[in-house]
Amino acid sequence: MVMPIQILPEEVASQIAAGEVVERPSSVVKELIENALDAAADQITIIIREAGKRLIEVVDNGEGIPNIEMELAVQRHATSKLKNAADLFRVSTLGFRGEALASIGSVSHLTLLSRVQKEDIGGLIRVEGGEVHPKESLGIPPGTTVRVEHLFYNVPARLKFLKTDRTEKRHINDVISRYGLANPKVRFKLFQDDDLVYQTSGSGNLREVLAANYGVSSARQMIEVISEDDNLKVSGYISPPGLTRSNRKEMQFFVNQRPVQDPALSKALTQAYHTLIMKGRYPISVLFLEVAAERVDVNVHPTKSEVRFEDKGEIFKGVGRAVRRALLAHTPVPDVDNIRGAQLWGGPAPDHRHVKRQVDPAWTMLEKTQEDVPFGFSQDSAQISAELGAPILRLIGQVAATYLIAEGPDGLYLIDQHAAHERILFEQFMANQSGNIPSQVLLDSVVVDFSPSSADLVQENLPILNQLGFDVEEFGPGSFVIRSVPVLLINTSPEATLRAAVEDLEVDETPLEKNKEEKIIARVCKKAAVKAGQVLSPDEQKRLILDLESCQSPRTCPHGRPTMIHLSVDLLEQKFGRTGPR
Ligand code: ADP
Ligand code: MG
Repeated sequence: MVMPIQILPEEVASQIAAGEVVERPSSVVKELIENALDAAADQITIIIREAGKRLIEVVDNGEGIPNIEMELAVQRHATSKLKNAADLFRVSTLGFRGEALASIGSVSHLTLLSRVQKEDIGGLIRVEGGEVHPKESLGIPPGTTVRVEHLFYNVPARLKFLKTDRTEKRHINDVISRYGLANPKVRFKLFQDDDLVYQTSGSGNLREVLAANYGVSSARQMIEVISEDDNLKVSGYISPPGLTRSNRKEMQFFVNQRPVQDPALSKALTQAYHTLIMKGRYPISVLFLEVAAERVDVNVHPTKSEVRFEDKGEIFKGVGRAVRRALLAHTPVPDVDNIRGAQLWGGPAPDHRHVKRQVDPAWTMLEKTQEDVPFGFSQDSAQISAELGAPILRLIGQVAATYLIAEGPDGLYLIDQHAAHERILFEQFMANQSGNIPSQVLLDSVVVDFSPSSADLVQENLPILNQLGFDVEEFGPGSFVIRSVPVLLINTSPEATLRAAVEDLEVDETPLEKNKEEKIIARVCKKAAVKAGQVLSPDEQKRLILDLESCQSPRTCPHGRPTMIHLSVDLLEQKFGRTGPR
């Protein structure tokens, strides 16, 4: 039976359009953030529950929507950003299709609350599965709040195709951190199930946003790019050749403030690094291209993540040139860790504290303002470690294949070899973190299979694992191939270390990225450290003590257990009942 041709009811048309615009919770977040930015908001708060399936709420302090336009805002093809077709060729706003609110409203329970500064009263409008309810009035502060509940409640197919909560949350985090980079003057806050998981200061300092996204230490290393000619301005930051990733995800480009994905731009960037970084590694970039609006077509993709340039070749050459120039002008910072290698047996322990603190004063400020300094040892812990540093030790030997005995300035030290080694590995990782951890290519790459939920975790933590020196890549459903491992772990089974890295991770719901990295490091070090019961050669014993001496906090393992027990000469004398002169 053939059906007659008919114009689709508005509700169905919206749902079809929604299919293009709203693929997953993060697409909603993207559209709502873009609306807030178009409304010139400088504070945007995003509240997420259950990975966006239960709630996505975006609160802004922007211009708001005039009361009489509230109904229009949720209509399809209703926009305040375009007047005629010609405008389409000089779009300066992020939105212009007039589709987002209508589309989102057709697949969720949407509430729009808004007030413009000069009106006394705000409006509230609800849309349920495309059905618009009558507007209500209420007193609210200026700005707009969009609340999206029960996303895809009426599109079970979409709901079914959503990934795990972790993955959907990661997509949301990615979107927000990207807009954070593009808008350093805007103060972003992201809450996931009541936890504040990301925030930027809105100070306008791009490096601060880099620090929020990549950690203070990576942010500090990033190289500034500035280049301008008649048709193209390129600015932003790129990573030095020593700071790389094993995937392309962190090569970020913005064209006229709009995040875009363009393989050709990525190629221009990687080519500029040619011979500077290893094959299979990719730089981090946050590059802003400014092109005259009429020289770029932004209307080539429903989610507007692709653009078309009038003169592609020229743009790519310009990007390559700008990056190459910045790289050439960059002088590498001296490697702090060579100092450790130069230390001799019995010599004074190197003072890492001074080296660590040799930073631009502006950065010290930044570290202090960070609520949670990721790795840089804070001033306080440096002071503590000065008092609690390891004594210079003379090795005597190993007992029970578990403890090392050493003589120190004031008596006898019993060292737990496992705990000590854990501490050493941990600090070596910490000192090298942010992509500088040397890795060793495995002669035979190893394929490891995971359960679906663990596979998800591995997938989610790939950026961190890469940063720690693991070259791991997805190899098929639930399986991953390990191509290289951190040099520090070369004596441990790659499979066991990778498993250890993601073990128990699901326990913490939405840990901060930085804490997570530290946790993964601690876990990996535990796995990789020498075990109790392992016989060590005299050289290995010496090495262990030497390395322990150069630790910042040699007296405890990363989990806080002691690495050594001290039997003072006084105590020995007391135990032996000696009282007189020695
Ligand atoms: P578009 O952004 O493409 O114009 P949307 O459906 O996203 O389409 O939004 C429709 C209209 O609603 C916008 O053009 C704008 O006038 C208004 N609007 C939406 N969100 C906001 C907001 N956060 N602040 C002010 N106005 C908004
Ligand atoms: Mg929009």
